[in-house]
Amino acid sequence: MAELIDGKRISTEIKDEVKEKVAELKAKGINVCLAVILVGNDPASTVYVGNKKKACEYTGIESRSYELPEDTTEADLLKLISDLNNDDTVNGILVQLPLPKHINEDKVIRAISPDKDVDGFHPESVGRLSIGAKGFVSCTPQGIVELLKRSNVEMDGANAVVIGRSNIVGKPMSVLLLRENATVTVCHSHTRNIKEICKTADILVVAIGKPRLIDSSYVKEGAVVIDVGIHRTGEGNKLCGDVDFDDVKEVASKITPVPGGVGPMTIACLINNCYQAAIMQNNL
Ligand code: NAD
Repeated sequence: MAELIDGKRISTEIKDEVKEKVAELKAKGINVCLAVILVGNDPASTVYVGNKKKACEYTGIESRSYELPEDTTEADLLKLISDLNNDDTVNGILVQLPLPKHINEDKVIRAISPDKDVDGFHPESVGRLSIGAKGFVSCTPQGIVELLKRSNVEMDGANAVVIGRSNIVGKPMSVLLLRENATVTVCHSHTRNIKEICKTADILVVAIGKPRLIDSSYVKEGAVVIDVGIHRTGEGNKLCGDVDFDDVKEVASKITPVPGGVGPMTIACLINNCYQAAIMQNNL
């Protein structure tokens, strides 16, 4: 039976470390500030933004909230981002995705200054990650690497398989695992023999957005399984992941639960990116 990788505990550990470092900056007269922009009132986005603001409060980071109506124009949103780019009291800018359909997400992501891109979605941040230069790393994959490190999972030389190739999870995940010296294979919806490939994985990261699709027939005995998926199921609106947890826990050596696995780590890494932004902007 697999050991649980406790994302809740590890994320609190990270937030406590950031809290201490933010207090040290405060003692030097430096305030850390995150601008959080929400357009419209999508219920899931409202919950995510609320959790991010709570994490800021916990760590002593100021969160400045911009809650804009659904019919905000793209031009108005770009103007706000430009103002925040030029505001020296703001260290990080987060625009909660998805945006309403009339706003071009790509344009908005590119408008955020790479120096304040705490989500790590700007093409410059993505480019920096891929060449191994200093820059912001997308929070979910960064959180997964922290989970693995703090759970003593050896990445160096391991066979890692990532299922999913999205820009925010799958692709940066594969680059980060490569940076940790794993041998990385990326599978996606067009991959042939996906089960056979997954069965070679010492570390299997699943980010496909399909509830409980990955069962024990995809998993090698003793593998470490990281489940990125989040879904609400019909049964009492309970949360589940992309992995069939009850089945896979019988063959894996370590596994993340949903909830309480990857989710809390994403927020902890966002908070850490805000602190890093303040460090860089103050040349510390
Ligand atoms: P996405 O829909 O952008 O990408 C899914 C990827 O999975 C695609 O690359 C696709 O090729 C691949 N895929 C789909 N079906 C497949 C199949 N049957 N076999 C193999 N590959 C398949 O999704 P995303 O943004 O990467 O998110 C994935 C999941 O992770 C979602 O459930 C999302 O809600 C969740 N998520 C969680 C967090 C978190 O903080 N825990 C953050 C981001 C995303």
